[in-house]
Amino acid sequence: MFENLQDKLNKAIKTLKGQGRITEINVAATIKEVRRALTDADVNYKVAKDITDRIRDKAIDRKVLISVEPGQLFVKIVQEELTELMGGEAQGINVKGDPAVILIAGLQGSGKTTFSGKLASYLKRQGRNVLLVAADIYRPAAIDQLKVLGEQVGVEVYSEPENKNAVQIAQNAIIQARKTGKKIVIVDTAGRLAVDEAMMKEIEAVKRAITPTETLFVVDSMTGQDAVNTAKTFNDRLDFDGVVLTKLDGDARGGAALSIKTVVNKPIKFISTGEKMEALDVFYPDRMASRILG
Ligand code: GDP
Repeated sequence: MFENLQDKLNKAIKTLKGQGRITEINVAATIKEVRRALTDADVNYKVAKDITDRIRDKAIDRKVLISVEPGQLFVKIVQEELTELMGGEAQGINVKGDPAVILIAGLQGSGKTTFSGKLASYLKRQGRNVLLVAADIYRPAAIDQLKVLGEQVGVEVYSEPENKNAVQIAQNAIIQARKTGKKIVIVDTAGRLAVDEAMMKEIEAVKRAITPTETLFVVDSMTGQDAVNTAKTFNDRLDFDGVVLTKLDGDARGGAALSIKTVVNKPIKFISTGEKMEALDVFYPDRMASRILG
């Protein structure tokens, strides 16, 4: 994860090590390299420019205040700015409600169904009574896939294989949850290969009908800049509450993690780092920033 970015950032920062102090002159080349490392990692140019401008200003500002080695000081500033860029504080999900309803949206193949299973397992381990809902009416295989995952993590899966109305399925599932004392309902929806109008209308209708406590947008981090564009399109239509970045285990660049918060102004809440049900983590911007800096 983030290997390329890590390598390039560390190389850039190395040039400051051994310098007596940070000056406008010696920091300029490092800043240029940091900016290039970020754009090579698929970070949007404007985002990369803004953050490196702030890093430079802070580095020059602080040189007289703190007598630490310039390389260390610079790393600390980059760490602070990367943390801020990714959202600052970690943001939890809202699971209050009777039941709380979590709507899962995203493109096909982004990892929605896998994440739904993981989230169910995560919440179950916290002692919550969860119901998974298969509201993908286009791919019968998607229902089976969720059932397999539900069985694996020991969470009941609600489905209506004959019903072609996603809104009704979601509504019926909530009624069922109330009857059976389930406290959290996770609704896995259909995704298409590209954003299309029919799909957007359907998920908007589902959202209106079930007023979720939390709408999570799932996106494949390996798609780089496209991940950010898709996030923007979904956010314009759904006004989601948080982002789930998947396949970070395969993402050597990391651009999506670094750009999404700035572009849609919604926090990343979870990261998925593998196909196994345990491969789910709450997203902590500061820990991720440390990881990026190696
Ligand atoms: P959906 O169409 O959005 O429901 O996507 P799926 O949950 O079916 O996931 C698509 C593929 O990506 C499957 O083969 C998953 O096993 C795989 N996948 C999902 N999340 C991850 C992840 O975090 N890392 C890796 N390596 N693969 C993942």
